[in-house]
Amino acid sequence: LQVLRLDGVSKSYPNGTVAVQDANLEVGEGELISFVGPSGCGKSTIFQMVAGLSKQTAGEIEILGGSTGQARRDNAISFVFQEATLMPWASVRDNVALPLKLRKLPPKQQEEEAERVLELVGLKDHAKSLPRQLSGGMRMRVSIARSLIAKPRILLMDEPFGALDEITRQTLQEELLSIWQRSKGMTVLFVTHNAFEAVYLSNRILVMTPRPGRISREIEVDVPYPRG
Ligand code: ADP
Ligand code: ADP
Repeated sequence: LQVLRLDGVSKSYPNGTVAVQDANLEVGEGELISFVGPSGCGKSTIFQMVAGLSKQTAGEIEILGGSTGQARRDNAISFVFQEATLMPWASVRDNVALPLKLRKLPPKQQEEEAERVLELVGLKDHAKSLPRQLSGGMRMRVSIARSLIAKPRILLMDEPFGALDEITRQTLQEELLSIWQRSKGMTVLFVTHNAFEAVYLSNRILVMTPRPGRISREIEVDVPYPRG
């Protein structure tokens, strides 16, 4: 099943910068895809367009056979930002439940689903903590839990583990793989500057080059873990 297709997608900013030029891509269900390349090659711009936060200036993006807007309305797609963007005044559980609160789901269900995803990321004993009481790795887990709560089909992660120390990064890589395996078909696209991470976590590496931003090379990787 094809979950994402980019067909001749380009993005130029009003100041003339061609952030992405003629990106073509087909992604199947359950793939783990990494984007690598120097700063300014258009990785974030591609993710923003796929997430429906920014509109391409040419070409077409199709998600699960529909538009990016439809995918957003269906909560089919979820975005984990580089820095954990949490509400500092709210508990871990309330931070995680936010997407369901915005959809006005019953409080009881918000709470149950928050408990479920906090368990997935190993934070069920920290539901009542505030973000500042957690380490950087734990805050990133909270962000990941929040992005998983609406059961997205596609998860976008822009350099999720970039700010973490090496040990924490390895732990979170293992956790992500385990969550992905249990998800039975969630597709993950992530940006990384870490070549080991790209090789270890993804089955396909897209190498991007800047000025203009292009997907210039694609590398298939044999993965050592069973595919979902
Ligand atoms: P990264 O390289 O970590 O992806 P950047 O620092 O290049 O992040 O950009 C972060 C955000 O700042 C981008 O997603 C974009 O929205 C904005 N940005 C980057 N470059 C420019 C620019 N030249 N003019 C205006 N906004 C920019
Ligand atoms: P990456 O994530 O690979 O670092 P970006 O997608 O953030 O790359 O940026 C791609 C190019 O587009 C860069 O040259 C950046 O400066 C430029 N850019 C990004 N956002 C904006 C913006 N809002 N306005 C103008 N230029 C931008």
